[in-house]
Amino acid sequence: MPIKSNLTKIQSQLPSHVTLVAVSKTKPVNDLMEAYSSGQRIFGENKIQEMVDKHQQMPKDIQWHMIGNVQRNKVKYMASFVDLIHGVDSEKLLNEINKQAEKHQRIINCLLQIKIAQEDTKFGMTAEAAHTLLASDHFKTLKNIAIVGLMGMASFTEDTAQIREEFTTLKNTFDSLKNTNPSLEIISMGMSGDYPLAIECGSTMVRLGSSIFGARNYAI
Ligand SMILES: *Cc1c(COP(=O)(O)O)cnc(C)c1O
Repeated sequence: MPIKSNLTKIQSQLPSHVTLVAVSKTKPVNDLMEAYSSGQRIFGENKIQEMVDKHQQMPKDIQWHMIGNVQRNKVKYMASFVDLIHGVDSEKLLNEINKQAEKHQRIINCLLQIKIAQEDTKFGMTAEAAHTLLASDHFKTLKNIAIVGLMGMASFTEDTAQIREEFTTLKNTFDSLKNTNPSLEIISMGMSGDYPLAIECGSTMVRLGSSIFGARNYAI
């Protein structure tokens, strides 16, 4: 029951231009089904194997988003069904996604992950590297991927001013890239702890886990 009421409450507060990704990593299929029965159709996972397992067990009208750091050798397991890959941070990874998408005669939507946090543990490209990649001749040859936006994660800090600055950096990067890449539509930023601020700063897609499903227990 709490999952249903959490979702309803969050949905009622989100502006209509903001898409909700229900981050269900570590949670059992029963919990996801509760969200599904409340109308949620977009789920985010950060481990490919876990996403593949859940995809097999759950209804086929779900859109699966890979929000974690992607290992190139595992792209093949999700290439037949993944709807959006948020964490693309290198040309090598993009090449592999393109190759696997081609095998399934699909175009896989991707977001470039931009590093906006100060922490070394958060992945991502520089804005400059993203510019260079999107302008390259090689990029134009990748027919089975579509870069539809950017993703970023702010620092894990109480310092709201810093988080605002990081989100604003992502928004500015998006605006400047969109000038030359009009197909960019999505700014994926904001998690349970910071999504109202992310929306204020221009987010169009929030990734919420614990505020829907409750705290995760990694100790099991
Ligand atoms: C786990 C995770 C989230 C959701 O985090 P919550 O704080 O539980 O909302 C969002 N984005 C990414 C990339 C994650 O790994």
